Amino acid sequence: MAEQDIKKGGISVDTEHIFPIIKKWLYSEKDIFLREIISNASDAITKLRRLESLGIREATDETYKITVTLDCDENTLTVSDNGIGMSEDELNKYICNIALSGAVDFIKTYENESSEGAKNGIIGHFGLGFYSAFMVSDSVEIETRSYTDAPAVHWVCSESGEYEISAGTRTEHGTSVIMHISENESEYLSKSKIRAILEKYCSFMPVEIYFNTTDDEQTEQKPINDVLPLWQKNASECTDEEYKDFYSKVFSDFRDPLFHIHINADYPLNFKGILYFPKLANEYETIEGQVKLYYNQVFVADNIKEVIPDYLLLLKGVLDCPELPLNVSRSYLQTNTYVSKLSSHIVKKVADKLCSLCNNERENYESIWQDISPFIEYASLRDKKFYDRVKKALLLTLTDGKKLTYDEYLEAAKEKHENTVYYATDKALQAQYVSMFNAQGIDVVLFDRPIDTQFAAMLEQQMEGVKFQRVDSELAEQLKSEGENVSLDAVKTLFEEVVGQNTKIEFSALKDEGIPAILTVSEQARRMEDMMRMYSLDASTLPTEYTLMINSSATLIKRLDELCNSDKEKASQMASYIYKLSLLSQKKFSADEMQEFMRESVEIMMKL
Ligand code: ADP
Repeated sequence: MAEQDIKKGGISVDTEHIFPIIKKWLYSEKDIFLREIISNASDAITKLRRLESLGIREATDETYKITVTLDCDENTLTVSDNGIGMSEDELNKYICNIALSGAVDFIKTYENESSEGAKNGIIGHFGLGFYSAFMVSDSVEIETRSYTDAPAVHWVCSESGEYEISAGTRTEHGTSVIMHISENESEYLSKSKIRAILEKYCSFMPVEIYFNTTDDEQTEQKPINDVLPLWQKNASECTDEEYKDFYSKVFSDFRDPLFHIHINADYPLNFKGILYFPKLANEYETIEGQVKLYYNQVFVADNIKEVIPDYLLLLKGVLDCPELPLNVSRSYLQTNTYVSKLSSHIVKKVADKLCSLCNNERENYESIWQDISPFIEYASLRDKKFYDRVKKALLLTLTDGKKLTYDEYLEAAKEKHENTVYYATDKALQAQYVSMFNAQGIDVVLFDRPIDTQFAAMLEQQMEGVKFQRVDSELAEQLKSEGENVSLDAVKTLFEEVVGQNTKIEFSALKDEGIPAILTVSEQARRMEDMMRMYSLDASTLPTEYTLMINSSATLIKRLDELCNSDKEKASQMASYIYKLSLLSQKKFSADEMQEFMRESVEIMMKL
């Protein structure tokens, strides 16, 4: 080419030294250059397709694709597309001038911040677009030919911003961006590194992407991406198997998720996505989910806390939001009203899904309840709106494993214990109380996780008139027999000598004659203790009021009454033992108490 055909120029920006700044400021975010260049290639193909569908260009049977080629001999990485291409004028307009507006904005925004602060503030990385190629390249070449009759153009630009435009050699429409990788960025000449970047950012881009290296024996036959990811389809067209496959592929989780939610929100929110509720192996597993944010199928960032409320952060999934800019900053997300609407919409969808599972797939819903309930309860505690949406779908687990909604439980309770939910916090320890209730046809709920009782306290405030009573809190009327409560003075005196401090002694006739005595603690006092323990305060300083309820109908108590007259010593030993038995259902023995109990048991057996 003759020297006079070459046009030289300098990239026009109003800020000097832009290239060193690109390199320095985006240092930790370098990988995204490939995403930017491939997004441009994908856009160029989308534009051409649009011209075809509008009839502006005659449709062809051409296969549109992007090829990424790594040449380790030439130290180049090339991204080629057969899209719309650029004429010389367009190249001047789009690449030499306008393209840098993003970079100028970037500098203006962050020039007063430390580079560390700037890096942290960027989520989807700043919109340097095409020029981000200079983060890893000494020079960049463009070989392009417009889909129109305009001749092919060749452009080459060094890292100082000096460029040359000359006639190009390309015969087909489209563009190749050839990046000459800098010596100190040689990691970008590694095949595995490039493949990893492609997989992270481009796995779901809408145009097929092929990856080759010049030393490959044959060119890659399979695209690295899925051009029609599941979230772009209608939920009615997707099978359960597809949802599970997608989940295991994207999150490398071999366990099936518990359920999924496919969201397809129209205007004005206009976003699509699939969220999964993961199955956790055990309670110790970190419950950090992973929600990947996409912009028109281009990966933007992971775990955007602003989009999903923190109480739902265990969710895993993908969200595609074309309404958010590809290069999105954290402060933008925090203050943006669109984002808060998006977040509310997601919460609503999760709640709707739970209700629909409860109403339409009850068996399946019951089977996952154990896994999901702590999160649902936590979310309800955190967000009243969420609670209001899911309250009809909250389940109670009974001590026998059966599951009921609150409405179902309260409906069944109407006759015998209207508006009272009886619960146990330890199935084994409180077994005796539970069986007393069950014998009277009263279902007892199991609240054996720390969050359960906190949740119950919240429900008491929300559900008017409903109260929650632990089975050992007070003697329910239903457990008492019609018979008279006789107070046996001699027996009372005996017990007064053996019971601990703060223990009242009362008599009552119970229906179950096999139980000599039970110990109760008022619901309020116990809640106070629980609360103190929760805040790590010393609950032992509280004078807990116990009541030892002696069952005057019990055969053993009648025997004890007789024994009071005949053998005082034996009677006293029996009273002490009965008291210990009642203690046993109330709390775990300390080492000393346990030893004492064993010693007494052996002594009693010796007398048999
Ligand atoms: P943005 O993509 O945000 O507009 P870029 O700096 O990445 O900014 O690109 C600037 C412009 O250059 C694009 O808008 C497009 O017009 C043009 N361009 C870049 N890459 C290509 C390509 N592969 N094919 C056709 N045009 C391109």
